[in-house]
Amino acid sequence: MRTARIAVGGIEHETCGFLPWTDDPAPTTLEDFRSQTVRGAEIARLGKANTIVDGFVRGVRENGLEMVPLLWARAFTGGAASRATFETVTSELLDLLRNAMPVDGVLLSLHGSFAAEGIDDADGAVLSAVRKLVGPDCPVMAVHDMHCNLTVEMARAADVLVVERTYPHTDMAERAVHTTRLMARTIAGEIRPRMAFRSIPLLWSAPKMMTADPPMRDAIGKLEELDQVPGVLSASLGVGYQPIDSPVVGTSAIVVTDANEALAEARADELAQWVWERRKLWQAESLTPEAALLLGEKAGKYPIILADQGDNTGGGAPGDSTEILRLFLQRRLTPSAVLYMVDPETAAQATTAGVGAEIAVGVGGKSSERLGPPVPMRARVRALSQGRFTYDGPMFAHAPEDLGPSAWIEQDGVHVVVISRRVQPIDLAFCRSLGLDCRAMRHISVKSTGHFRSGFAPIAGSIFNVITKTALSNDYRQWGGRFKRLGRKIYPLHEDVPVSWSRSETAQR
Ligand SMILES: [Zn+2]
Repeated sequence: MRTARIAVGGIEHETCGFLPWTDDPAPTTLEDFRSQTVRGAEIARLGKANTIVDGFVRGVRENGLEMVPLLWARAFTGGAASRATFETVTSELLDLLRNAMPVDGVLLSLHGSFAAEGIDDADGAVLSAVRKLVGPDCPVMAVHDMHCNLTVEMARAADVLVVERTYPHTDMAERAVHTTRLMARTIAGEIRPRMAFRSIPLLWSAPKMMTADPPMRDAIGKLEELDQVPGVLSASLGVGYQPIDSPVVGTSAIVVTDANEALAEARADELAQWVWERRKLWQAESLTPEAALLLGEKAGKYPIILADQGDNTGGGAPGDSTEILRLFLQRRLTPSAVLYMVDPETAAQATTAGVGAEIAVGVGGKSSERLGPPVPMRARVRALSQGRFTYDGPMFAHAPEDLGPSAWIEQDGVHVVVISRRVQPIDLAFCRSLGLDCRAMRHISVKSTGHFRSGFAPIAGSIFNVITKTALSNDYRQWGGRFKRLGRKIYPLHEDVPVSWSRSETAQR
C-alpha cells in the first residue's frame, strides 16, 4: 500500500480589535507575517520544538505518513490583517496545496482568532477554501490556540478541530501529535470522526484560564473525563480571545466521536452546559499593583511576581507601560526587575553607550500617553544583546526567538530589560543569557498574563495578576461600550442571556 500524503501548514494570528485609546490598532502587515514564515523543506526539518507545526511534523513521522510541507506563517498579536495581506498569505498556502494535490489529508495550525479587514472569521475562510480545494472526502484537521473564537463555519469546513488544553500553552506539540494520530487512523479507515460544536455566549476572564489552578483545572478535568467515554475521540474547550468587537467572540465546546453523531451532540451539550452553569467561576476580580503588593508582603513569599496583564504584549498591548516600574522605583523595591519594556529607543541608546556606561534615559511610556510618561532613569548598562535566543520551556521549548536589539539596565537595584520587538517574557532563558538572575529578585513584573508561568512559576514565591491603568482589562463590563457587533447577548456583559444547546449546525457535508 502506498504511503498516505499529508499536507502540513499553518497561518497563525491572534487579532486584537481594540485597545483603550483606539478602535483601530495598527494593522498586521505582510512584513509581520513574512518575518516569521517558513516553507517547504524548512517545515520538514522541524519536529523538535514545542509548537503545533513541530508536533505535526513529529506526528507524521511517527505514524509512517509522508509529509507534504506547505507554508507556516505567523505574526505577533496585533491589529487585523489588511485584505491584501490576508489574500497574499492565504493564496500562497492554497497554491502550495493545489500544486501538491492529490493529498490524503490536511493538517493546519490556525490560531482560531484571526481576523482580516472585512473578514471576522479569517480562520473559517482559510478552512473553507482548503475544503473547497480538496473536496468533501479528504480529511481536514486543525489545531488551535486555547484563546480561539471558533465558529460554525470552521466546524463545518473541518473534520476535526482540536484546541490546546494548557495555559501557558505547554501542550502545543502534544495536541498536534494527538490530531495527527486521528488523521492516521482516519486515513487507515479505523475511525470515522464526527464532530459537534457549541458556541457558548461567555467572555472568559484571563486570570481564570490558568490550567494549573482551580477552577480552570477542573475544566480540563472535565475534558479528560470525556476522553474516557467510549467512542469519544477528542474533546476541546476554546476560552476565546476577547479584545475584538466581532460576532465570533466567545467560548466554544467541541466533541469528536467515532462515527457517532448522537454521542458527539449529547456530549457537546453536556460540556457546554457544564461550562455555562459555572459561568460566574470564570470571572476574575481586578487587582491593582498596590493591592497585590500588600497581599504579597503579607504572605512574605519571594520573589513576588506581578503579572502586568494590562500591558501584556501577548494580548496585543504595546508593552511599554511605566506604571509598575515607577512603583518599584518610588517604593525602592529592590532588587527588582521589569520584564520586558518594549522600548527600541532606550535599547539603541544603551547599545551606543556600551556595557558599563551610565546613561540618562526616559524609559518606556512612548506608545501612548496612557502608558507613560517615560520614566527618567540614570541607569548602568549591565548587558547588551541582539535579542536572539532559544526558549528552554516547557512552552516553546527549543523554539528560537528574536526580541531585537536589547539591553539590561539597572538603577540602584531596579533592573529593566529593554527590548525592541513586542514579545512577552515566557521563560528565564533570555534573562539568563544576559546574566540577570531572576531568582535573586524580590519583586518581578512581567508584561504577560499567563505564559510567563512557563519559566517563572517554578521560581515564584507568589504570583498576582494585576490590572494597570493601561491597555487590557479582565473586567469586560468596562469594555461594554466597545462591543457593538456581537450580535447576541453574552455573559457577563448581559445577565439575562438565553442559551439553548440545540443540535449544532455542523451538519455533515
Ligand atoms: Zn493563547
